[in-house]
Amino acid sequence: MSPSDDHSKPWETTRRGLLLLVSSPAGAGKTSLTRTLVADYDSLILSISATTRAPRPGEEEGREYYFKTRAQFEAMIEAGDFLEWATVNGNYYGTPKAPVMAALEAGHDVIFDIDWQGAQQVAERAPTDAVRVFILPPAWGDLERRLRARAQDSEAVMDQRLRLGQEEIRHWDRYDYVIVNKNFDRAYADLQHIYRAERMKPVRNAWLPGFVGDLLAEAAGEHEATGAPPRTTMMRPVQK
Ligand code: 5GP
Repeated sequence: MSPSDDHSKPWETTRRGLLLLVSSPAGAGKTSLTRTLVADYDSLILSISATTRAPRPGEEEGREYYFKTRAQFEAMIEAGDFLEWATVNGNYYGTPKAPVMAALEAGHDVIFDIDWQGAQQVAERAPTDAVRVFILPPAWGDLERRLRARAQDSEAVMDQRLRLGQEEIRHWDRYDYVIVNKNFDRAYADLQHIYRAERMKPVRNAWLPGFVGDLLAEAAGEHEATGAPPRTTMMRPVQK
C-alpha cells in the first residue's frame, strides 16, 4: 500500500491531477495507445471531444466524439464551454471544459487525444498540470500503410489527412516527450513510464509535506524515547 492509499489522514488523499496531452499525425497509433492506457489505469479519464466532422462508420455519439452542428459548436464557443478548441481540416474540434474540471476535482488524471493547437492552448492555460506527449511513426510509409489498412476514408480524405500529418509533425519539438511507435508494446511501455513518473512529481502530491512532517515527527519522538539523536540529524551531511 502506498502512503496515498491510507485515508486515515485527510492530506494523504490530496493529489493534483495531471493533464496528459497526446498528439500525433493520423495513423501513428495514438488512439490505440491512449485507449489502452485508459483501460489499464482507473486513475485516468479520457476526455471526449466535440466535433463538427461527420461520424465515421462504427463511431458512436459520446464514445469517440460528441457530434455537433456548426451552429451548436459555435454556441458552445460563445458560452465559454471549451477548455480549448481548434479548426482541423475545416472542422471544429474542442474539449468540453466541465468533464475535465469534474475529473480533476475527483482526484483523477485526464488524457487528451488532441492536435498540436489544442495541446498548446491547454499547456498555456495549465502549465503545471500539462504533460505533452508526441507520437511519431517509424517511417512515413508506415503512416500511409496504416491509414490505407483502416480503409475508413476516401483517397481524397486520406491525402488531406497525410498533408495534415506533416503539419502536425512539424510541431514535435513543443512536446515534453516523444515516442517513436515502431512497436506497440514498446511504445505503450514508454507511455506508461511517462505517466507513472509524472504522477510521482512532488507538485502533484500535496500529501507529501504532511507525510514527510509525520516521518520527521516520528523520528524526533524516537529520539526523545531513546535519547538517540533524531534520524534526520544523523543523516544530514557533515557541515564544513
Ligand atoms: P479525427 O477527425 O481523425 O478524429 O481527428 C483529427 C485531429 O483532430 C486529430 O489530430 C485529433 O487529435 C484532433 N482532435 C480531436 N479532438 C480534438 C480536440 O478536442 N481539440 C483539438 N484541438 N484537436 C482535437
